[in-house]
Amino acid sequence: MFFRDIAGHNTIKQKLINSVKMNRVSHALLFTGPEGNGKLSLAIAYAQYLSCENKNDNDSCGKCVSCLKYGKLIHPDLHFVYPVIKTKSYSKPVSVNFIKQWREFISESPYHGFNKWMIKLGIENQQAGIFAQESEEIIKQLSFKPYESEFKVMIIWMPEKMNISASNKLLKMIEEPPPKTIFILVAEDTDKIIKTILSRTQLVKIPRISEQTMFESIKEKYNFTDEKIKETVNIADGNFLKAEELLKNNENKAGSENFKKFAQFMRNAYGIKINNMISQAEDIAKSGREAQKDFLSYSLKLLRENFILNISPENQNKILFLTDNEKIFSEKFNNFIHKNNIRQLMNEFNEAYNHIERNGYNKLVFLDLALKTARLLKIKPQ
Ligand SMILES: [Zn+2]
Repeated sequence: MFFRDIAGHNTIKQKLINSVKMNRVSHALLFTGPEGNGKLSLAIAYAQYLSCENKNDNDSCGKCVSCLKYGKLIHPDLHFVYPVIKTKSYSKPVSVNFIKQWREFISESPYHGFNKWMIKLGIENQQAGIFAQESEEIIKQLSFKPYESEFKVMIIWMPEKMNISASNKLLKMIEEPPPKTIFILVAEDTDKIIKTILSRTQLVKIPRISEQTMFESIKEKYNFTDEKIKETVNIADGNFLKAEELLKNNENKAGSENFKKFAQFMRNAYGIKINNMISQAEDIAKSGREAQKDFLSYSLKLLRENFILNISPENQNKILFLTDNEKIFSEKFNNFIHKNNIRQLMNEFNEAYNHIERNGYNKLVFLDLALKTARLLKIKPQ
């Protein structure tokens, strides 16, 4: 990881680099700040810089043996601790059990979040944490001299998820650190970290990414219109992880398939083209149940957004997050979605969703929905 991989934070990067140049590296640091601001990547970039054998003024060289190992996150003097879960294979899980997923997680993007990590581990509703057994693992890993670098670095991501016994053992290690060892804690919620740890670490506050920086960084990486990027930046509110998700949805192929279906469905209904309605109902019924539900959820979303557009056209650029195609379509379509029919339309689409879920006769459900929609689109706004 390089400093240049992370958008913005130039003053902080410079301070970190100076601390290395001036030989003033603290043995325990705490990077804090909101989700999606690149703080975990900054910690890794800092560790890589420390260990680089041929440092530039602004970043690691990327070519030395140390940098090459850091690039794959396999450097023997770099250690990670992060929340993990119990599985069938690991009843007392520790971080190294999940190192493969972790390396992928770090490499996928410079921006990280707890939920994204949980998805990577393939779970949603299980308690993840840093458990007591982890502290023994830390002691074991740090009990050797650095193998190849001057320092060993232990990066602890989300220390707020540490249980109390692990926290106390970590505190002891920070108070009496093994020689040549640097701890970098990376946290979002410092209220949940024990006070004694807070008081013994040097705090590095890392703020949200500014709108201007995010705009420039997205423009450099992605191929979207300025207008689309501005919308994304507005919604993401300094969280680069969120911005990436929004941009990905925008590229999402399923999304554009649903849009095509929706536009066709509405045109058929508005023109009362019965034959087209029947053949589209047949087509939709042929797709899987999940695809059908997905189409209905998508339709509900687009109906809702068109209603918002209808009642407050001045908010067009602020509230709505629509792809360019959806936007062009909605410019006219929103005139037909108003306070006199929105509730009934939403009801009918919800009803269809419930029928599909309960194994309804799908073709008839969609034909019936098309006919009802045709009637509702004819209702006048006044
Ligand atoms: Zn290097």
